[in-house]
Amino acid sequence: MPDFSRDGAVSLDQADPLGHFRGRYHIPDGVIYLDGNSLGPMAKTAPEAMATALEGEWANGLITSWNAAGWWDLPVSIGEKLAPVIGAAPGQTVVTDSTSINIYKLLHAALALRPDRSVILTEADSFPTDLYMTEGALSSNRDISRRLIQDFGDLNGQMGDDVAVVLLSHVNYRTGALLDMKSITQAVQDQGAIMVWDLCHSSGVIPMELDDWNVDFAVGCTYKYLNGGPGAPAFIYAAKRYLGKIQQPLSGWWGHAAPFDFEQDFRPEPGIRSFLCGTQPILSMRALSAALDVFADVDIQTVRQKSQALTGYFIELIDHYCKGYDLEVLSLRDEQLRGSQVSLTHRQGYPIVQALIDRGVIGDFRTPDQLRFGFAPLYLRYIEVWDAVQHLRDILETGSWDQARFHKRDPVT
Ligand SMILES: *Cc1c(COP(=O)(O)O)cnc(C)c1O
Repeated sequence: MPDFSRDGAVSLDQADPLGHFRGRYHIPDGVIYLDGNSLGPMAKTAPEAMATALEGEWANGLITSWNAAGWWDLPVSIGEKLAPVIGAAPGQTVVTDSTSINIYKLLHAALALRPDRSVILTEADSFPTDLYMTEGALSSNRDISRRLIQDFGDLNGQMGDDVAVVLLSHVNYRTGALLDMKSITQAVQDQGAIMVWDLCHSSGVIPMELDDWNVDFAVGCTYKYLNGGPGAPAFIYAAKRYLGKIQQPLSGWWGHAAPFDFEQDFRPEPGIRSFLCGTQPILSMRALSAALDVFADVDIQTVRQKSQALTGYFIELIDHYCKGYDLEVLSLRDEQLRGSQVSLTHRQGYPIVQALIDRGVIGDFRTPDQLRFGFAPLYLRYIEVWDAVQHLRDILETGSWDQARFHKRDPVT
């Protein structure tokens, strides 16, 4: 019989091997943060890293900082910090641009590797930007079409010798469903297609071995579980076997083999730098770099164990305390198939989420009826999960969500 008492939560925190990591983040007083899957909190070392970049490198170093402070190499050097977190050997990861832009680059690169094929296969339930950027790739490639997977159980049925590239999210942004990266990559490659993974909702919280699992390409953002900060640049992984053979469409000068030779024609850099386009956001990179320093000390397997424990605990508490309020658990109950978030559904999801935020319990809402909660093991405590569920129960029990101010829609939900 699980222990549903507050003391039970306290005991879980006392036994938590990751408990000490919380001190490395700035978590505001009075906040229970269940949105680290959307924007991670600030590493305590980030302000100093940014101050150094502003006052030392920019204010005093001026343009000499491109060399002296290593600005020029940051996309690659920070990529190398990230590489172990995603199971990549050096030389294959670069930090640059946004996930959306990087998807566009990779779809083109993959299509160019399969010139005799004409279909991009992706999920109907992808995060919208993945779908939109697929449309963008279609508009700039003749005779290419998009095929949408409606039912994931039938991936093989959707494949075929016309599929050039498959783009999938490792963890679904709505439901939190986790795909088997290794076996799907193998199945896609067995059919002759190129596999591109979107790791936005898994990098930093789910163990993965991109090299060992023979992944072709991957993208991901760094401001979710990696805590890089708002607008932190995204990343690209490209397997070594493709480097030097890639055509990426945004052939800007930062991806040129010799940018300061100022040649007339584009000649790609032979390595992972060829995925760069133009001048990179150095200030954001400094904050990201500080955030990634934490991961040098993190064992992702331990993170995964706590993530499964936190999400499982939350579901048990919801079942126990929030029965009879028309709340449904949308996420999978099998912890092996679940990422690090739990989505619930309720007809009044939007105002309920606003009422929670009003009490300092920050989750988010995804249309039409989903209450989405992220569980980031590096700073979240079991006691916070317990308290969050009590707030939710109280809001449902008293109907306090039904106030005009909680129904008002802001641009970001
Ligand atoms: C968060 C997220 C993005 C974000 O894209 P940006 O271009 O960085 O804004 C893209 N895809 C997925 C699956 C995401 O979860």
